[in-house]
Amino acid sequence: MPPTVIHDPGQIDFALPGKHHYQVAFHLDSSWGYSLVPMTVINGSAGGSGPEPAGVAAFGGTHGNEYEGQVAIKRLCTDLDPREMRGRLILIPQLSETACRAHQRCSPEDDVNMNRAFPGNAHGTLSYRISNFVKTRIFPQVRVVMDIHSGGKESVFPLCTSFHPLPNAEQHAETAAIARLFDTPFIFVYSRQMASGLLTDEAEDEGKIALGGEFGHAEGTSTSGVRHAYEGIKNVLRHYEMLGGEIVRVDAARATPSRMVQAPNLSDYIPSPRSGIWEPAVTPGADVEKGDLIGSLHDFSNHCSLPLEIRAHKKGVIIALYFAAVCKKGLTLYVIGEDAA
Ligand SMILES: [Zn+2]
Repeated sequence: MPPTVIHDPGQIDFALPGKHHYQVAFHLDSSWGYSLVPMTVINGSAGGSGPEPAGVAAFGGTHGNEYEGQVAIKRLCTDLDPREMRGRLILIPQLSETACRAHQRCSPEDDVNMNRAFPGNAHGTLSYRISNFVKTRIFPQVRVVMDIHSGGKESVFPLCTSFHPLPNAEQHAETAAIARLFDTPFIFVYSRQMASGLLTDEAEDEGKIALGGEFGHAEGTSTSGVRHAYEGIKNVLRHYEMLGGEIVRVDAARATPSRMVQAPNLSDYIPSPRSGIWEPAVTPGADVEKGDLIGSLHDFSNHCSLPLEIRAHKKGVIIALYFAAVCKKGLTLYVIGEDAA
């Protein structure tokens, strides 16, 4: 069955029993035509005692050049059986569909980064209209929101789930519990000040359980990243009793639980002091001491010049690292985090 094209999002019946595949049509700004955003809505029909489970939404392709979330969520669209499920699940494998088709971070239609476009605008350009749809049509259906990212073509993170520090202790604890279900080597509690307009910003401000994560890098499709994203989302469904069975270890070979690392202050997000060719000296996830060499910036305008050495400003864990060779002044070279409770 091909997906049903939806021209009026107000016509979507999110309570329809079973599994339904849609393409939600958002008109283009530049020409006659549409961005057809893929969406699968599942309302489980398995019986069960207890209250109706929390609704869950999972997004991939918020950035078009990050593939693990796109692949994992697409696979869930075909694999999950509503007869074995309870509650409501909404899967969107390519939220910024035009960015995904162009294989780039931002939409080529309006040059907007979907993950800076929230809460959106019903009368804005394409990306703002899609984010407004998420805010006004999808968020009201769910209590748990997951947005699966990768490092794109600039940064590398050790495989991690991520969320912001939350002032509400209950919301923080539940989000941390969900983060652990992905069984990633790291959980990164990151600064909300680094950017605004994120999908997860909006969800957490509504009091939802909002989780992000970085499951690969370099515009590849990481085998382990896809596995952690796919199995992690299924573990979340099991946790909320939307899917039967026990929580599974995703990486049974790793002896240690996820290591939670926090970097709540922008002073630990270090910008490149100048443009150059970046030669990292450490790997993401490495423990460093203050003064350790993080990497070198080379200036090829004078091949006799010594590289500029970038050294750790404090002891901690390299929780994000610039990896592309070409680095521009001001881009974040590295982030040092500290172990969180
Ligand atoms: Zn991203």
